[in-house]
Amino acid sequence: MSFAFADTPYEAPDAMFELKAAFDRDTATRKLNLGPGAYLDNEGRSWILPAVAAAETQLQASPPGHEYLPILGLPAFRQAARSIAFGGDSPLINGPKIATLQTISGTGAIRIAVQFLKLFYNAAATVYVSDPSWSNHRVMFEYAGFKVEDYPYYDTPTRSLAFTRMLQRMEAVEDGGIFVLQACGHNPTGCDLTHDQWSQLAKVLQRKNHIPLLDNAYQGFAGGSLEDDGWSVRHLFSDHGLTGILCQSFSKSMGLYGERVGAVHVVLPANDSQSVIRAVESQIGWISRKEISTPVRYGATIASTIITTPALFEQWKKDLVTMSSRIKLMREKVLQGLKARDTPGDWSHVVTQVGMFSYTGLTEAQVLKLREKSIYLSETGRISVSGLNDGNVDYFCDCVDEVVRAS
Ligand code: PLP
Repeated sequence: MSFAFADTPYEAPDAMFELKAAFDRDTATRKLNLGPGAYLDNEGRSWILPAVAAAETQLQASPPGHEYLPILGLPAFRQAARSIAFGGDSPLINGPKIATLQTISGTGAIRIAVQFLKLFYNAAATVYVSDPSWSNHRVMFEYAGFKVEDYPYYDTPTRSLAFTRMLQRMEAVEDGGIFVLQACGHNPTGCDLTHDQWSQLAKVLQRKNHIPLLDNAYQGFAGGSLEDDGWSVRHLFSDHGLTGILCQSFSKSMGLYGERVGAVHVVLPANDSQSVIRAVESQIGWISRKEISTPVRYGATIASTIITTPALFEQWKKDLVTMSSRIKLMREKVLQGLKARDTPGDWSHVVTQVGMFSYTGLTEAQVLKLREKSIYLSETGRISVSGLNDGNVDYFCDCVDEVVRAS
């Protein structure tokens, strides 16, 4: 063929979107979609957080309009986002240590971080992502031309963190690598580091001059507490004074998925870095200007209204508990359901893992068998726990029991 674009190769859709399409095509009356990382209530419906609904009502009374935002984003949102990520009383947010840019949610934050690292850190640095990780981590860095390698994270036989191997790898590689870490509610494994493990890791990062890129997509959603889920962020950047980048998303924690609310924060170590922070902020702003011109007003206005209005903030904290408790309850029901059926194997990891996802340990063959029963989950065995509810958890346990026994 001779016309322009004629040789464009076909790119297969992302596995999760493909799974959703297969689920939509399925005509069974009882079907479960355990793929997408979005919260559903106990009736299987998407949920508008009461805090968000109240903020929207408040905004209707005094509409924010539709003007362009500044390049760095809505000032109130940038300040509010920092206080959530680093703690309102953190010396970090009051000193000249953090450059903050409003982004197109967590993905946009990572995109800006990738470009910033490429231009102003080291385009030849190796990027290390956990094995396994959220699939976009690797591809976004590769897309920008970085060399990407895995570091051990999950130990399949014990279904837990491969912490010793993770640390050994961090020690063994060349100094100055970029380590992509997840602050809490690790996607896809649901396995997080303990406080002591974060401390050990921080020391190695520091000694090896590695740059941590902390992806914080589930703060408050994972464990129900903004403080507990934000501990790793404060520990690395405040207690250890590391230089690095924090990518923050409000998609899950406020249920603002489609509104694309997030921020990237570049954190410097010392208080005497005023001129550097100014320069960094100017550069992340300039990168964003070239990518999206200016960020999005609506979602950021909702988020900052919630964070800065005491009654709404209290409501949000309750909403986080509502979501995380329902997920914990479903984990418990799966464990009890499989125990009651005497399903072969130890399933206790389902309740020790945290956050949106459980890495069930189901094999690809078992996952495909479940698909024949109209239960859709990733071939890695990852389930989005919020797809389970009182109306379908027994069916899920019945089917898991059946495919496990048959294999
Ligand atoms: N990081 C992780 C680990 C995620 O799981 C996700 C979404 O699933 C994101 C980042 C990005 O989410 P968003 O761009 O919707 O904020």
